[in-house]
Amino acid sequence: LLRRALALAAIAIAAAVPAAAAGRIHYDVDYHVEFLPREGQAAVTIAIDPHDAHVTRIRLRMDPGRYSEVRGDGRVTRSGDRVSWEPPDAGGALHYRYRIDHRRRKGGYDARIDARWVIVRGDDLVPAAAVTATQGTDSRARLRFTLPKGWSNVDTPYRLARDAHAFVVTDPQHRFDRPVGWIVAGDVGTRREAIAGCEFSVAGPKGERVRRNDMIAFANVTLPHVQRAFGKLPPKLLVVSAGDPMWRGGLSGPRSLFLHAARPLVSENGTSSLVHELFHAVTRIRGAGDDDWIAEGLAEYYSIELTRRAGLLSASRYEKTLAWMQKHAHGVEHLRARHSSGRNTARAVLLFHELDREIQGRREGASLDDVVRALIPVREVSLADLRAAAQRASGAPSKVLASPLVAEPAASAPVRK
Ligand SMILES: [Zn+2]
Repeated sequence: LLRRALALAAIAIAAAVPAAAAGRIHYDVDYHVEFLPREGQAAVTIAIDPHDAHVTRIRLRMDPGRYSEVRGDGRVTRSGDRVSWEPPDAGGALHYRYRIDHRRRKGGYDARIDARWVIVRGDDLVPAAAVTATQGTDSRARLRFTLPKGWSNVDTPYRLARDAHAFVVTDPQHRFDRPVGWIVAGDVGTRREAIAGCEFSVAGPKGERVRRNDMIAFANVTLPHVQRAFGKLPPKLLVVSAGDPMWRGGLSGPRSLFLHAARPLVSENGTSSLVHELFHAVTRIRGAGDDDWIAEGLAEYYSIELTRRAGLLSASRYEKTLAWMQKHAHGVEHLRARHSSGRNTARAVLLFHELDREIQGRREGASLDDVVRALIPVREVSLADLRAAAQRASGAPSKVLASPLVAEPAASAPVRK
């Protein structure tokens, strides 16, 4: 009842002012992050200003081992890892601390703060939230930082507001905008360039061998091909890079990625970690259930294919790379698994190469690019989605995707998930 009354009130307001002038009814969210290197934490504030809407409740999942000192205006309750916040009618703020350092299983850090810099993900600073608000409203979110003394720089996957005091947080997938993707701050050097309509930014701690110019140069020739293949690029892409003790690999996030400073732009086997992670960051395609090989295979295939299209990989090097995959994938009989291993991914690369050829051979001008473009809005992609998209692109069911490599698990095998 309460919510219906609110919705009606909201409609009345929206009708009273011309839509063009007022825009959609909305509430403002102000995220403020203060980095505290000595404590190894960030002090985070989420402030809600109702504007012409109304926010009744925000529920967040906060692991007590990482999020502490949760308090706020209105009513805050916490039970296990669930926090429920009911802000006052006039708006208010929720405050908490987040413990930053995090190590992956194989040793390196994927989040770290020291005296000079911090690398962390926005999705961790602000956990996913379920918001109860006036029906049909959108949030307008800004992200601001308070940096310790001597820290000169901060970068995020978002563009700066016109006044340059805050980042404009937008998430076309959700009504409630929250900051996600990689964030870097501190004594950090940044290089940025406008490439194919996208603000491409490379940032990393000063004094480390971060390949800012190399990556910008690489992006200058590859990003136009990414755009041609998959459509529009995000308005900004941020690459965060640092050396040890950070994780020795690449990790993608929305509109952003982390790449260890020691990683070459093209590996000995001819693949490119940078283009692989860019594929993830731009398409956001994930394999559903046991279909991780779809996301990993596509990212790895396009790390070769886009580098070739950009003229950075010769035809003979391209063939050698596929031959390497053939050798590396020797003995792989099934691709479906929760996490695609290196050998599985190599086999998936060969499968996608065959699929690309099949589509190109069946319909003039069609290619695997069409399949990827169709899968981007799906996000979490199953084998059935892939088969359907390939059929639409080529006009007939794919023979390549009928391979025993991707056969459903036998009925007698334990069914996972
Ligand atoms: Zn990957």
